[in-house]
Amino acid sequence: MKKTTGTDRSITRNWRPATQAVRGGTWRSEHGETSEALFLTSGYTYDDAQTVADRFAGEAEGMTYSRLQNPTVAMLEERIALMEGAEACRAQASGMAAMTTALLCQLSVGDHVVGARAAFGSCRWLLDQLLPRFGIETTVVDSADNDAWDAAIRPNTKVFFFETPANPTLDVVDMAHVCGLAKSRGIISVVDNAFATSALQRPMDFGADVVAYSATKLMDGQGRVLAGAVCGSQEWIDEVLLPFQRNTGPNISPFNAWVVLKGLETLGLRAQKQSENAVELGRFIEPRVPRILHPGLPSHPQHSLAMAQMSATGPIFALDVESRERAFALLDALELVDLSNNIGDARSLMCHPASTTHAAMTEEARAEMGVTEGLLRINVGLEDVEDLREDLDRALKAAGL
Ligand SMILES: *Cc1c(COP(=O)(O)O)cnc(C)c1O
Repeated sequence: MKKTTGTDRSITRNWRPATQAVRGGTWRSEHGETSEALFLTSGYTYDDAQTVADRFAGEAEGMTYSRLQNPTVAMLEERIALMEGAEACRAQASGMAAMTTALLCQLSVGDHVVGARAAFGSCRWLLDQLLPRFGIETTVVDSADNDAWDAAIRPNTKVFFFETPANPTLDVVDMAHVCGLAKSRGIISVVDNAFATSALQRPMDFGADVVAYSATKLMDGQGRVLAGAVCGSQEWIDEVLLPFQRNTGPNISPFNAWVVLKGLETLGLRAQKQSENAVELGRFIEPRVPRILHPGLPSHPQHSLAMAQMSATGPIFALDVESRERAFALLDALELVDLSNNIGDARSLMCHPASTTHAAMTEEARAEMGVTEGLLRINVGLEDVEDLREDLDRALKAAGL
């Protein structure tokens, strides 16, 4: 494997994120292929026994088994790290594999975690159900309240875990404050950056230690594969994450890694355009509904914080139409926007969190998170925004709005 161009790392590592999205991490085989090659292989062969022994001893470079290294996966990992401004990255089989790995690799019985109240349903399950089973204490806080983070710290607090903007209520966390607080108290901050991606916000620029991804969302961007990633310092990845990952095996398939690698090439364009479409559609919907939760609109309580942390506010927002009947009537009248619980796709998608993504939670937990019976979440895609407006207009009317 070689790089026919881009071999001088003193030059290539300084390329800007938009260049890294297209070029970062590219290795080329002896064929000099333009597009990254897909290495669908679980293992490797060796020229002689000493070579194998040296690789297993860590004394020679080279791959030994795809749970440990794979060339296509390595290209994806290098590209994500370069775009993120992180020293290192490891790809995972899914977003939840990434979150589970990022937490379990560094936690032990007796540790304490402070997590955000508003979160992806399965992220809350990790905090509320899984970690306590292993003797790891957890506290959930209103992540928009800076003082709540401080007040929740205990002597054994090891990790802060949050997403921003958060699913599905679009709460925004003040990353400079919360990650700075963590750092000052020797706590590792783990940020789930699935909603924004490095194209719109880079948590490490605000002091985050670890950035974890569902790459299923905007990174793939076309609704094709499940994928995830965890970024951190070289030392943390090598010494904390890798021993866990190599022995438990939440690895991504090379095929899925290749799909995401190609998705990253257009991530910046898609994220910007979908954000613009989301703001336009939000402005159209706002006067028609009782409540809209959209970090890109001045009515959002944390609008200025979102604008300060993000280059654009992303494709996702939520609206509250006050009852399940109205919400279902609206969804059932859509002709263009698909009824789907996915996000980050180039297609516009809409869902009712209380009966889908957050249905497994208790009613009290939903109420505490602001997931009401009338809440709808929309992922705004790349369609002509005029067509989206017409579709929403028809659907809002069907819901009596
Ligand atoms: C989707 C999502 C996840 C889980 O990712 P999967 O790829 O579906 O496993 C985690 N966090 C957030 C914020 C998400 O949106």
